Amino acid sequence: MLVGKIDRVGRIRTLHGDMGVWHKYTFGLAGERFFRALAEKGVLLATRCETCRKTYLPPKIYCPTCFAELTVWVELPPRGYVETYTFLYEDLEENRLTEPVAVAFVTFPGVEGGIIHRLGEVRPEEVCSGLEVEAVLAAERSGGLQDILYFRPSRE
Ligand SMILES: [Zn+2]
Repeated sequence: MLVGKIDRVGRIRTLHGDMGVWHKYTFGLAGERFFRALAEKGVLLATRCETCRKTYLPPKIYCPTCFAELTVWVELPPRGYVETYTFLYEDLEENRLTEPVAVAFVTFPGVEGGIIHRLGEVRPEEVCSGLEVEAVLAAERSGGLQDILYFRPSRE
């Protein structure tokens, strides 16, 4: 094992090959419960601090304001509102999309935070801040944000 300070650039060597990197990402305690409820019941959960009277989405296990442990879980109403939005014109490989994709930060009344997700079943000119939206869930859910297909203008 080479450990030490490189004091001459000429001593730097290049190694070619693969470096095995393994990792496991977990949702954490609150995320696990959130995604399990989304997958199994099709509901959005948040946690509430009774001391601060704040509700958090994504749910947190400790209140970021008073540091109290949060044990009160609440089910969010089925409808939220577009707080802000943007349109995507290219995919991740910078290929031009045939149609722009609307992405919004969806918030819920009285809740700190929200969810960033795609909008669907909406014309670009209809998208605006304050638009009331509802989640369209996948028929087969696996416990991830993809369980929400998109948010669409709510249909009462
Ligand atoms: Zn608090």
